[in-house]
Amino acid sequence: MKQQVSKTGPTKGREHLHVTDRIKEHCGLFGIYGTPKAVKHTFYSLYSLQHRGEEGAGIAATDGNVIKDLRGMGQVGDALPRESLAQLTGHAAIGHVRYSTTGSSNITNVQPIMVQYARGQIAVAHNGNLVNAQALRSQLESRGSIFRTTTDSEIILHLLAQSCQPDWLDALANSLNEVKGAFSLVFITPNEVVGARDPHGFRPLLIGKLDNSYCLASESCAFDLIGAETVREVEPGEIVSLSRNGLASRRYAPPTRHARCIFELIYFARADSSLFGESVHLFRQRLGRRLAQEHPVNADFVVAVPHSATSAAMGYHRESGIPIEQGFIANTYMGRTFIQPFQGRRTEYVNIKLNAVPRVLKDKRVVVVDDSIVRGTTTKSKMQLLRKAGAKEIHLRISCPPHRHPCFYGIDFASCDELIANKVLPEKMAEYFEVDSVCYLSIEGLKACAESEPEGFCMACFDGKYPVNITEGTCKTSFEQTARQMITATSQQ
Ligand code: SF4
Repeated sequence: MKQQVSKTGPTKGREHLHVTDRIKEHCGLFGIYGTPKAVKHTFYSLYSLQHRGEEGAGIAATDGNVIKDLRGMGQVGDALPRESLAQLTGHAAIGHVRYSTTGSSNITNVQPIMVQYARGQIAVAHNGNLVNAQALRSQLESRGSIFRTTTDSEIILHLLAQSCQPDWLDALANSLNEVKGAFSLVFITPNEVVGARDPHGFRPLLIGKLDNSYCLASESCAFDLIGAETVREVEPGEIVSLSRNGLASRRYAPPTRHARCIFELIYFARADSSLFGESVHLFRQRLGRRLAQEHPVNADFVVAVPHSATSAAMGYHRESGIPIEQGFIANTYMGRTFIQPFQGRRTEYVNIKLNAVPRVLKDKRVVVVDDSIVRGTTTKSKMQLLRKAGAKEIHLRISCPPHRHPCFYGIDFASCDELIANKVLPEKMAEYFEVDSVCYLSIEGLKACAESEPEGFCMACFDGKYPVNITEGTCKTSFEQTARQMITATSQQ
């Protein structure tokens, strides 16, 4: 019998007020089979993936007969309290940390999503966004499906449930061929843990090994924490099954153009992770080196915007020979998603999150390296902090090209007209930020920093070349909006 323990954490009844204009992460996945410590390893691994989502977390575990789950709002420590975790036991588990990209931030949408269907229990955790979700959901609903959540991830479970294939992995293969867009997935049944990746490989998913157990994770830092070794990536278009028979693999889709999200390497992933065949830290260092080659400037110090620009700033320093200094100090207790109890301005957010060091900056010429600019509002506040601390010249260097296009593959970007690169002319950018110069890395420079084939990356938010056609205009609350429209239409009849 399914037992579900759901709780709401400290954010219950309170709006998430995202006063930062940072790009929001998507989700983090973990799965492991074949160890009595499966729940413990999953719990700790979710901690190491916390940067990928802070709105909710969940674990589903099996003892071979029954799957039990625990899900909660907030960060891992709040969402999954120790006393409730004790109810989860077994030799296999999957886990998820969530930032909502489709569906509101509420407990119903926290994953893993667990259901009981004709084949028994199954739970799924998803990273990415399906671009044909609205059409599929309408079709499924017209055939009688009743959805529990407003996420696109649940669609995959309904496709699976309606499949006529006798073997569930054949049913899964067929289902995955119906969905389009970005998806890395982990499933758990009473007998196995299964991982799958979309044919373009937008989001990462790696296979690890810990003694005699296999595991799956969005980033290698999750393996490091539990002492597992990275074996390889789940290939785009591949399904892997972890069970008492070890690791089994099959393809469900023919090879096609890879489109790994370059922004995972620029910003999202933890610097100590390796994914897409790249060390994230070394990749970012190369971005910084290339930035120094493309946009040199005379300065006294290189200063990193903490923490995701630290590696790129190091690269700029190494290439230019300009000393690096800690001009900003970050308040590390806030996390990436700041929930502000009072209505406030973004400047207040920046002032709580960061402080500049006047004794370092006074009368100095500084090169500030940041990893990206979205709306530009917090960037302006950061530059004002430097100026207030006495910096004489400020030269802003961005370690990626300008963001001009929205992402439909699982990243919560601002819309086109909110992106600062579409609102302010390049020659007016320095004036807007009240600095002496602003320069971005070029697209060619970005491509040159990849050790693997640059054409195997998605760069659509920079160049507008979407690897999978976008036919639906979606936003993260599309399904809620559709439901509201239907209720309004019915009440007006
Ligand atoms: S559009 Fe940008 S953020 Fe989205 S998948 Fe492509 S590279 Fe990543």
